[in-house]
Amino acid sequence: MSKEDLECSFCGRKKSETNLLIAGLDAHICDRCIEQAHGIVVEEALHSGNTELSKDLMLKKPKLIKAFLDEYVIGQEFTKKVMSVAVYNHYKRLLQPKSDDDIEIQKSNIIIVGQTGTGKTLIAKTIARMLNVPLAIVDATVLTEAGYVGEDVESILTRLLQAADYNLEKAENGIVFIDEIDKIARKSDNPSITRDVSGEGVQQALLKLLEGTTVNVPPKGGRKHPDQKFIEVNTENILFIAGGAFDGIERHISKRLNMQAVGFTASLKENQMEKDNMLRYIIPKDLKDFGLIPEIIGRLPVLTYMNPLDKETLRAILTEPKNAIIKQYKKLFEMDGIDFVITEEALDFIVEQAIDYKLGARGLRSLCEAVLTDAMYEMPGTDEKSVQVTKEYAEEKLNKSTLKKLKAVS
Ligand code: ADP
Repeated sequence: MSKEDLECSFCGRKKSETNLLIAGLDAHICDRCIEQAHGIVVEEALHSGNTELSKDLMLKKPKLIKAFLDEYVIGQEFTKKVMSVAVYNHYKRLLQPKSDDDIEIQKSNIIIVGQTGTGKTLIAKTIARMLNVPLAIVDATVLTEAGYVGEDVESILTRLLQAADYNLEKAENGIVFIDEIDKIARKSDNPSITRDVSGEGVQQALLKLLEGTTVNVPPKGGRKHPDQKFIEVNTENILFIAGGAFDGIERHISKRLNMQAVGFTASLKENQMEKDNMLRYIIPKDLKDFGLIPEIIGRLPVLTYMNPLDKETLRAILTEPKNAIIKQYKKLFEMDGIDFVITEEALDFIVEQAIDYKLGARGLRSLCEAVLTDAMYEMPGTDEKSVQVTKEYAEEKLNKSTLKKLKAVS
């Protein structure tokens, strides 16, 4: 067949009648048919609500979200459940068809109260990973009111844009984790006496973002200046998760509980309550007493808490999550053909040290490094094909390490 005889396999037009004829395996398609087919694809997607976003999100029911979290986050059952529902509702809100029944689903931004190193960031990261949405992790302590030294709150959205590779649509459906939200609390319970202007100012600035608004964001971050180009970001569909340790909030909680019902505290002995995680009794009023302004609290309607990590939890964190630290080391050794075994006693020992050093879950990693660095340095390239870490081995390596100094200081 000569070139001129070629025709579109879909509409039958001769090559000479088309602007472009593209060859496939044993067929051809012309420019007009391509356009028409593209139109059908787009229309079909819109019609069935089957856009990439909805397809991805509608599948994840709360129980599925929780199951995914379970693979990575040990314990924290209450928070995992609450967050699974909040995240599900958030994305239901995004997908709700415009209806005329006036029922507008409000945003379910979340605030998590809990000591550092208990897994707040981990939960936010895991949710973002599961939903395949961009995540920006920002520290509230660097935020200041516009005009002061520090970063404007808009910088949060710059980070989100960066996390989304500047894909605006993705960023606008992303998640922002604001760490250390407690550090921008007003320093006094009484606003009229000691007013912590910067803290309250930042809270005010955050309000708009949390609620949903359009913000001019400098794409490269930094301070705003007049001739900079901005990207308009709508925060309506961005899920905000705030986290903070709120050191000392237990005092507010117990004070309230004592005032609320004498019978309640009488039935729960004082020391039993201490042992209990007081945070589990937290209500929004405690956040207000701590120094968050009511408007901020209102825009973070889902309030939850983290339990402190006890020995059993730390032990589980070492070995159970999908990418548990010990599993990672096993893999690293495996890549050198080395069989890595660690005894139960050695694991218990590492956990005890983490508690002693007051390092929490974050410390587990540094402790393992201290114990295993020698083996990881010496063994590759030698004939030794297995390593067994016993308690004695771990003890010896730790005694030599610089971590020991940390203990002496604390
Ligand atoms: P936070 O944000 O509360 O300060 P992170 O989420 O950053 O704490 O936790 C620090 C590290 O400790 C995480 O990277 C993770 O390895 C580990 N970790 C903390 N809590 C848990 C948990 N509940 N389950 C599994 N790993 C945890």
